[in-house]
Amino acid sequence: MRVNLDRVRELDLQDPLAIFKERFALPEGVLYLDGNSLGAQPLAARDAVAETLDQWRDELIKGWNQGWFDAPERLGNRLAPVLGAGEGEVIVTDNITLNIFKLLGYIIGQRDEGRGVVLSEGGNFPTDGYIAQGFSRFGGHEHRFLPEGAPLEAHLDGVDVVVLSQVNYRTGALRDMAAVTRQVHAHGAEIIWDLAHSAGALPVDLNGCGARYAVGCTYKYLNGGPGAPAFLYVQRDHQDGGWQPLSGWHGHAAPFDFEANYAPAGDITRFRTGTHSALTYRALEASLDMWQDVDLQALRTKSLAMSELFRDCLADLLESYGITDITPAAGERGSQVSLVDTENGFAIVQALIARGVIGDYREPGLMRFGFTPLYLSFEDVWQAAGHFREVLETGEYRESRFNVRGAVT
Ligand SMILES: *Cc1c(COP(=O)(O)O)cnc(C)c1O
Repeated sequence: MRVNLDRVRELDLQDPLAIFKERFALPEGVLYLDGNSLGAQPLAARDAVAETLDQWRDELIKGWNQGWFDAPERLGNRLAPVLGAGEGEVIVTDNITLNIFKLLGYIIGQRDEGRGVVLSEGGNFPTDGYIAQGFSRFGGHEHRFLPEGAPLEAHLDGVDVVVLSQVNYRTGALRDMAAVTRQVHAHGAEIIWDLAHSAGALPVDLNGCGARYAVGCTYKYLNGGPGAPAFLYVQRDHQDGGWQPLSGWHGHAAPFDFEANYAPAGDITRFRTGTHSALTYRALEASLDMWQDVDLQALRTKSLAMSELFRDCLADLLESYGITDITPAAGERGSQVSLVDTENGFAIVQALIARGVIGDYREPGLMRFGFTPLYLSFEDVWQAAGHFREVLETGEYRESRFNVRGAVT
C-alpha cells in the first residue's frame, strides 16, 4: 500500500471531529462503511430509550404531555440548523415515501391549471419514483421520468413538480441545489429535494438555495436508529397552501377538539398524520443532541479527505482487477465511494463483510462505501482499504460462500 500509516495517524491527531468517535457504540472488530444505509448507534440512544420505557411504565398516558406529543416539531427545530433551515420550517414525521406523497398533493392542490405533471428521476432510489407513480395514478395526474443523465432543462415543459435527490444514492453525485432550484422555479414549477444522502453527510443550505420543499431520512447519516422518523421541510412563506392529502388528526388545527371535519393546522404541523412512536423519537433526539455540537464545514472537509484516502490506497490496484471507480470529483460528490465490478462486486463485498469491513452492494455491480466523519478515523479507512487489497490479492472473494445471496443486501 502506497499511503504511509504514520501520515494517516497524523491526520487523526489533527482531526477536530475525532472526539465524537467515543460517543458511539461500535462493535469490536468492525470497520463500518455503511453509515449511508443505517447509521451507527450513539451511546446516548440506549439511555434515552430506556428512560422513555420507564416514563411509559410510570407516567402512562401522561407521557404524551411530557414531550412525546410535540416531538415532531421539537426535533424538527433541532434538526433545522443541520439543513440550513429556520425555526418552524422542519417537522420530523413518517418516512420519506409518505412525505413525498404529502408534498406532491400539497403542491399540486395549489395549482389550478393543467392536470398535474410529476417528474421524478430515473436512477434515483426507487421509492421516490414508485410513490410519484402511485400519487399520479390515483390522483389522475401524469407521471414522467427524467432519463438518468439527461439534462433537466429539456424535460421541464409542462411539469408541475419535480422530485430530485441532492446526492445520488448509487454514484454519490452531488447536484447544485441553488442552480437547479432556480432553474425549476424559472419554469414555473416546484421542486421537492430528497436529502436522504446529504443530511448529516455534508452542509445543506435549504434557505440559502431558495429551496421551498424537501424531505429526508434520519436513520442514515444522522444516526437516528432503524426506522427512525423522516423529516419534511417547507420554507416559511409556503406554509399556508391548504391541505396535504394524508389529512390525519395530528395535522388538524385542533386535534383534541375531535371535530368531524378536517381543517389543516396553520403551520408545518399540518404535515403530521397520526400517532407516532415516542421510543424512536427519543433515540433520534439523543443523536440530534450530538449534532448540535458538530461543525458542518469540518464534517465536509473530513468526509472528502476520508473518501480520497480510501481511493488513494486502492488507486494502483483497481484497474488490474477490472474494477471501475465511478466516484465523482471532490466538489461533486456526497460522502461515499462507488466502485463497479459487475462480475465480482457482490462477492468482494461479502468477503469484506466476513472480515468485519461493512460496505454494501447494489445491483448491477455497485460496491458502495459510506464515510461517516463522526465515528470513522483515518486509520479505520486505511485499514478498510488494506482489507480490500487483501481480498483481491488473495483471491478470497472467489470462495463459494461469498457468492450466496441473502434477502437484505
Ligand atoms: C434511503 C432513501 C429513501 C428511503 O425512503 P423511506 O420511505 O424512508 O424508506 C428514499 N429516497 C432516497 C433517495 C433514499 O436514499
